Amino acid sequence: MKFKPANKIQDLQYFGEFGGVNPSISDSSTYTFLSAKTMFDTFEGNADGCYLYSRHSTPSNLYLGEALAEMEGTETANVTASGMGAITPVLLQLCAAGDHIVSSRTIYGGTYAFLKNFTPKLNIATTFVDITKLDVVEAAITKTTKILYCESVSNPLLEVADIKGLAALAKKYGLKLIVDNTFSPLSITPGELGADIIIHSLTKFINGSSDTVGGVVCASQEFIDDLRNVNDGACMLLGSTLDSLRASSVLKNLRTLHIRMKQHSKNAMYLAEKFESEGLKTVYPGLVSHPSHELFTTMMNEEYGYGGMLTIDVGSLAKANELMELMQHKNLGYLAVSLGFYKTLFSAPGTSTSSEIPEEEQQQMGLTDGLIRFSIGLDNDIERTFDMMKSCMKEVGVL
Ligand code: PLP
Repeated sequence: MKFKPANKIQDLQYFGEFGGVNPSISDSSTYTFLSAKTMFDTFEGNADGCYLYSRHSTPSNLYLGEALAEMEGTETANVTASGMGAITPVLLQLCAAGDHIVSSRTIYGGTYAFLKNFTPKLNIATTFVDITKLDVVEAAITKTTKILYCESVSNPLLEVADIKGLAALAKKYGLKLIVDNTFSPLSITPGELGADIIIHSLTKFINGSSDTVGGVVCASQEFIDDLRNVNDGACMLLGSTLDSLRASSVLKNLRTLHIRMKQHSKNAMYLAEKFESEGLKTVYPGLVSHPSHELFTTMMNEEYGYGGMLTIDVGSLAKANELMELMQHKNLGYLAVSLGFYKTLFSAPGTSTSSEIPEEEQQQMGLTDGLIRFSIGLDNDIERTFDMMKSCMKEVGVL
């Protein structure tokens, strides 16, 4: 039977302590015990249902984690204070000095910087590859490789990872396949395709209101227990814990994710087709011209579409900046990084979210100066939006 991630979120039932339809928020950093013995057992992880200290776990964080695990079809999940607060402990948990990672070369700039500049200090090396070429990925695997790392749809180039193919490689060489699914929640379910660990920045589509940073690791109970281990768990010891108030607000927003994703995808598809027909160099996985359109189609949960992210290339950074400033002036969206907001957000990744990647490498991977990344909003009247964007494009001379 087809995997139905939104049904699984909706089927969860929670009540607050006074019968509220939302679970009560745990507004405490520490918890009392009637007996010292129970406190000891809780610290050792042997007292189910008891809480000790809010960096370890809180009811609000567990509720959100449970819902996200349902969404991704994994045994459980651990929520974190940011997307980077999910990515970095996972990598550090799985790698020791001397280990090696094979990563997609087109990934979020912060993740890239962590692998390129930070983990080498711990003697963990990374080879960056074109993730769309399985033979290149396989050739980069060495005896010390522990992890294959990618984004299902990459930031910012929107390359699509063949998760089944990568999972087969991971299995063959005994590696963990880690997939950052931030760009394609609900549309793609990496765990169903063989990924071992699925990560999201909750800051983006999942929360959707650009008021919170957060992250999640969805994985097996065993791995999440490892991350939370009081003696050597990277989430526990590095301490990127999500605040309960934020966890509860993200959980409430998660319940409308399916409606939002359908609208983001519908609007993005409309604009991508229009931009392309106007002759703009447009990248969107829903376009037949996208090199991985068919692959995405075989992997997707159809009803959620191809996602809300698209890029156009307007030739130069100067033109990109001029166009973005004008579109913001006309209230077509905001010149801002991040994604998943109700308003369209646009930025030039080369000088913002991917600026950690040296210029030469940007060129090699095809990240051009004139690239504008759009996170398409929930506009009710996307036809009007397109007409207005088109006149901005004419005014700055890119059409
Ligand atoms: N993964 C992807 C694909 C992202 O785009 C981002 C942020 O832009 C992150 C991870 C990091 O998330 P956060 O900013 O919540 O730490």
